[in-house]
Amino acid sequence: MQKPVEISEFVTLTPTARVEKPRHGWRAKCLQRLIRLDLPVPKTVALPVETVRAIAAGQVFDAQALAAEFGPEMLVSVRPSPENPEWGGPGTVLNVGMNDEMHAILSNTHGSEAADALYLRFVQGYALHVARLDPDMFQQEPGPGALEAALDAYEEETDERFPQSGAQQLAEVLRSMARAWEGTTARLLRQAKGAPPDAVLGLLVQEMVLGIGPGLSGSGTMQFIDSVTGAPQITGRFRGQSQGRTAAVETLYLTQDPRGASLEEADAEVFDELRSYGAICRERLREEMQIEFTIESGKVHLIDAVRTPRSARAAVRVAVALAEDGVISREDALLRVEPRAITELLHYQVDPRAPRDVLARGIAASPGAATGKIVFSAAAAQASAARDEPCILVRRETSPEDIRGMHAAVAVLTGRGGMTSHAAVIARGLGLPCIVGAEIEIQSRERQFRGPRGRIFREGDIVTLDGTNGEILVGAAEMLAPALDDGFRTLLQWADLVRDIGIRANADTPDDARTALMFEADGIGLCRTEHMFFDEDRLTVMREMIFADSPEDRRAALERLLPMQRADFLTLFELMKGQPVCIRLFDPPLHEFLPHDREGMRELAEALDRPLSEVTRRVAALSEFNPMLGMRGVRLGVTVPEIYDMQARAIFEATVEAARRGAEVVPEIMIPLVSASREVEIVKTRVDAVAAAVRNETKSDFTYRLGVMVETPRAALRAGEIAEHAAFLSFGTNDLTQMTYGLSRDDAGRFMSTYVNQQVYSEDPFHILDVEGVGELLLIGAGRGRSARPDVTISVCGEHGGNPESIAFCRAAGFDYVSCSPFRVPVARLAAAHYALLAPRRGSGA
Ligand code: PEP
Ligand code: MG
Repeated sequence: MQKPVEISEFVTLTPTARVEKPRHGWRAKCLQRLIRLDLPVPKTVALPVETVRAIAAGQVFDAQALAAEFGPEMLVSVRPSPENPEWGGPGTVLNVGMNDEMHAILSNTHGSEAADALYLRFVQGYALHVARLDPDMFQQEPGPGALEAALDAYEEETDERFPQSGAQQLAEVLRSMARAWEGTTARLLRQAKGAPPDAVLGLLVQEMVLGIGPGLSGSGTMQFIDSVTGAPQITGRFRGQSQGRTAAVETLYLTQDPRGASLEEADAEVFDELRSYGAICRERLREEMQIEFTIESGKVHLIDAVRTPRSARAAVRVAVALAEDGVISREDALLRVEPRAITELLHYQVDPRAPRDVLARGIAASPGAATGKIVFSAAAAQASAARDEPCILVRRETSPEDIRGMHAAVAVLTGRGGMTSHAAVIARGLGLPCIVGAEIEIQSRERQFRGPRGRIFREGDIVTLDGTNGEILVGAAEMLAPALDDGFRTLLQWADLVRDIGIRANADTPDDARTALMFEADGIGLCRTEHMFFDEDRLTVMREMIFADSPEDRRAALERLLPMQRADFLTLFELMKGQPVCIRLFDPPLHEFLPHDREGMRELAEALDRPLSEVTRRVAALSEFNPMLGMRGVRLGVTVPEIYDMQARAIFEATVEAARRGAEVVPEIMIPLVSASREVEIVKTRVDAVAAAVRNETKSDFTYRLGVMVETPRAALRAGEIAEHAAFLSFGTNDLTQMTYGLSRDDAGRFMSTYVNQQVYSEDPFHILDVEGVGELLLIGAGRGRSARPDVTISVCGEHGGNPESIAFCRAAGFDYVSCSPFRVPVARLAAAHYALLAPRRGSGA
């Protein structure tokens, strides 16, 4: 038999004891801090992680010496102490040491009813969680005979008397907690919260404070802010004659009690004492803490303190308030808010005044609201996103294979699961509105779901998901833009003071521009102009232009588009009030503007008053085997130059008009899909000529910057000679990723999960910038561009721009700015500030 090893590696928490977070866990460290602040913490002993791990591994051990620390009448609790409080851990066990002898002592001091109740609860808990006996045998309600029944049941089930040795009880409790930490479920749960696979546990043994007895006795928690808003407010609960979080004999509210009693009224002195402990913690631990306390006959004991749980909104408010009160620095305040978490503050909400047709309800698992088409698979979600169609991913429940689909969706809906289910946890992480466990019956094969009143919803139907209150609404609901409070603005303004890379927004419409302004972007880094041609009236003119037989006819159609484009740009310039606006010239292949089915072609023939055969022939002539590698971008600019001429004119005329109205702007014009410097020369010559003509006609002067979108590998490699004709180079990492991998951005979703699961790619490169391959092209392009033209502005405007990791990469490479979708701007601003604080750029004055 293995010889029992005495547990000797433990440390009593004193102000000077050597307690380390990695070795003893966060709770041990936190309690030591409370002890250093002279707060009334009961005696506590910490077991280091290596001891706990040895116990879990089956080391036979003896807890005599440990128990002896607490004297002959030991009564203790055992608490988990992992390195990070987020990682959870086994539940606390109270009243270890309770046996017949303690029962007799407590019956004398506290009365037999209280002694019975404590002993009963301990026997029940021990039987279930330590001895792992049948729960049905330990359901006794407190009252006469219950304790004996529980003790008898224990003896019957184990053929042994309930252990009377405190040291033995303690050893068994430690063993069961150490093992619980190693269980598969516990491991998965903490890994979902970011714990590493080898996360370890420390354990604490703490002298019990009973919380029962004469005078004011009981236990509770108190916090000093509202967990949702972060506003200063005392909340919590106090239960008289109770201990821990579960036992309730009588509940007293802290400040207001509907029945009139409150801890504040019951004992104002105790209440003030607790409040002062909260203030001490805030000031000295530099954090808003929730304290857990036990009161025994009017004397307060602090048994634990944790960082007050809080929403992202509250986290921002608390960080700003602590900095404004001088408790922490502004830099600390910035670093205390996780950039990705602030997406939660940015969401649209369903307008409460709008009518709601509720089709079903579920658990509100992640806040915000979104409208989109229903899809039933991750692949369909990715395909939908590639078509720029917002979609809501509906699954019975989600699994890791769905993550890419969740990234592509605007919201997630599941028929199963709760607040900690995969869908809920991931959606909150992504800041996606999410409802789980909804009252719907999903029929994936038929691609439909059935609501509670038998209503059927099919793939492609539009619904609105309100993740804030758990309602799924029919159709598109009226939305309210996010309300951004002072704390949020203040924090991001502090971020702007430290960050050293620009953050612009990709904005195609006035609405996008307004969002970009609301989020205080440093201008527009990409305005995709083709989106402006899809309105009904413009589409017709666009088609006439495509069908024109001669350059004159084409010019005539473009003449009609000119005022519309001019108005588009003028609106943007006026809105952006002098901030940079980078307009990308027309990019997609022309056939995208033509109908693809017979019916559409017939309608077009009618509208253009041309024979159907001609329309069919033209459409066929424009069709390409590989349209993404075909007649698009600058290739159109070179072969059908009138389109870019019109756009350049619209930009310059809008510039002149904007200046006349007091919104001076230096427009930036960007040429897409360049692969050769000669393309840039040709377009530049024409754009310069249009500028000269507009200057001449309007008798006004203006400047502009012409730049190149680097989105073909060749453009990156030839960036040196391209930069000779370009004031700026902006990497379009969507196309650049597509072409570097030879991977279709629209179709890769079909096999991306397999590729990532088999670790062919570590991540979907359309989602996370591939720093090894595409990143190298970025570095080569930026380096060659800068060597040829040291003042060339370098940026990224693909979807990767808003990703914190990509920002780190671009910043390290000395890029001037990144441009991302407007809703990602705040996260990007904060992430950029984090990087600037954590890794200052050499020679950076920013
Ligand atoms: C890109 O290719 O990265 C880009 C920003 O352009 P688009 O997504 O419009 O092709
Ligand atoms: Mg592109």
